[in-house]
Parts: sequence; structure tokens; C-alpha cells
Amino acid sequence: MSVLVYTESWGGNFRKSTFEAVSYASETAKVLGTEVVAVSLENVSDEELNKLSNYGVSKVISVENINKGDSQASSKIISDLSSDSNVVVFSNTHTAKMIAPRLSVKINASCITNVISLTSSSEITVNRKSFSTKAIETVKSNAEKTILCIAPNSYGVIVNNVSMSIEKSEFSESGSLTFEGQETSSGKISISEAEIVVSGGRGLKGPENWGMIEELAEVLGAATACSKPVADIGWRPHAEHVGQTGKVVASDLYIAIGISGAIQHLAGVNSSKVMVAINTDPEAPFFKAADYGIVGDAFEVVPKLIEEIKKIKN
Ligand code: FAD
Repeated sequence: MSVLVYTESWGGNFRKSTFEAVSYASETAKVLGTEVVAVSLENVSDEELNKLSNYGVSKVISVENINKGDSQASSKIISDLSSDSNVVVFSNTHTAKMIAPRLSVKINASCITNVISLTSSSEITVNRKSFSTKAIETVKSNAEKTILCIAPNSYGVIVNNVSMSIEKSEFSESGSLTFEGQETSSGKISISEAEIVVSGGRGLKGPENWGMIEELAEVLGAATACSKPVADIGWRPHAEHVGQTGKVVASDLYIAIGISGAIQHLAGVNSSKVMVAINTDPEAPFFKAADYGIVGDAFEVVPKLIEEIKKIKN
């Protein structure tokens, strides 16, 4: 019996959330007294695959030539590979949300999403975030097999060097889905994995004013995000929209600039450890949720912030 973990890459490199899921799988394997097998379905180089051995993976199975985004093919392959695993671990990403439920039907497993804690015994019992992170639930799996989807930035990456073998195969069936395209955020860092997120709202008046948001993100090494209306009007790509109906942010620092703090926006960002709001309106709801607030005009405050951060960095 092994713990199987699904790995995801971006531009040929494993995502930070993958190393987090692998670390989680490795700690779970210790509790269950077994080993970790990783599955890669994305044509990743051997050099990249080898990195998994730093986080406790003893075997990686790399299956090539699957259409990107073909969650039906992916769930079929993982179901075939999981015959020897009672626990399958994913990061709680967009891709996992497409694959894990299909897999759960195929292998008759319980599927627990948004997981934030380890099980302490072979009776899988974990904590998960629920109600837009307003509550923490403790959930016990009563099925023989369990799929655990780990909330990004909730567990951490733990180094655990082991020797690892690589097994390769090719997928030959033609899938029922074809990947036609993808709209990505312009930022270099993924929003859901970022340690710092700089986010802009309708208070920024127009897309031409995003230069200072990007500059602030650049000096802080942050990802850029935005409120829903900003993406709806087309000022920023939808990939940057955060909130209840957008991406979920669990960063160390979330800076909200010209964002009112509507409940639907806060629902997606309130897992951040520290929140800072910059808003002209002292009554803006964001100030009730924020740890720090600056009542002021973003067009004055943000350039000053950038200047001061540059001074500190120099
Ligand atoms: P506004 O509400 O217009 O706020 C702009 C803010 O900028 C104001 O507080 C204003 O005081 C401030 N401001 C103005 N000028 C300046 C300046 N010069 N400097 C600094 N501050 C300034 N919203 C989301 O964001 N994410 C979601 O996922 C989401 N999902 C939704 C789902 C549903 C079902 C519904 C009904 C709504 C959803 N919304 C979502 C929309 C949400 O209710 C708000 O309408 C939205 O978040 C407001 O965006 P905003 O704060 O950018 O704009």
C-alpha cells in the first residue's frame, strides 16, 4: 500500500503547491507506515521529476502524451494507478477540482477538499476549511479509499530526501476533451500560491492606472489580483479575479487597493495572514476585516509605498 500523490507543473516546472501536496503525502505515509508514489501527467523533464525525491517520493510514474486539460483521461489513468493506494493526495487547485471528483466515482473513494491538517491514524480524519473559510470542519472518511485535496499555502513544504525511481509510459487512447486555449494572468507569480498579493479594485478608475499596482507587486515580489467588477469590465484578465466566484488567496500578505471589501470579495481572501486596505473612504467595509488600513488616495499612497520599499531594499 502506498500514498499516491498527483503532481502539477507550470511551464515545465512543478508548482509550489505540488511540493506542498507531496510533503503532505509524505507525512501521511509516515503515519500509515508506507511510501509515497507520485504521478506526473504533464511531460515533465527528468531533472524536474528528480526534485520530487527531496520531498519523500520513492517512485514517480510519468505518463506522457495526454491532452492538457483532459480530466477524464487523467482520472482514468490515476484510477488505474491507485489500485495499491488507499489515500490519493491532490493540491486543491482548479485542475484537481476537475479530476478528483471523477476519480472518486471511479474508485469509490470519499473525496475531502480544502484539507488543512494531517490524519493522526489510519482512520482518515482531517480538518477542512468550509463556508468560505468562516468555519473549520473535522471530517472522518468512512470509505476504504480517500482522496485528500490540500488547500494551497496551508501545510508548507517539508524537505525529506529519499532515493527515488522513475517509471515512464505513454498514453495512447484519444481523449474526449481537447484543450483549445487558456487565459492566464499577466503576473509572473500564481495568485493562489503567492506569499504576497497586491490587488486593485474599481477605485483605481481604469486599466491605464495598473502600472503602479504592477510596480508595487514587482518590488514586493508579489502576484497581482483584482476585484470581480474590474475583471468583468475588462480592465484585467479574469484569471486575476479573486473572491467567492474567483480565485482563493491564502497569502502571508494581501494588499487591497481601492477595493470596498464586499462580503463576496472577502470570502476569497480572508485566509490571508495579514490584510492591508488602502481606501479613500474611512467607512469602507474592508477596514473592518483588515489588520492595517491606510485612509488615503491610492494615487498618492501607492507611489509613496513603492518609493519607501525601494529605499529599504537598497
Ligand atoms: P467598489 O465597490 O466600487 O469599490 C471601490 C472602492 O474604491 C470604494 O470603497 C472606494 O471608496 C474606493 N476608492 C475610490 N477611489 C479611490 C482612490 N482614489 N483611492 C483609494 N480608494 C478609492 N466581488 C469580488 O471582488 N469577487 C468575487 O468573487 C465576487 N463574487 C460575487 C458573487 C456574487 C453572487 C455577487 C452578487 C457579487 C460578487 N462580487 C464579487 C461583487 C461584490 O459584491 C462587489 O460588488 C465588488 O467586490 C466590488 O468591487 P470593488 O471593491 O472593486 O468596487
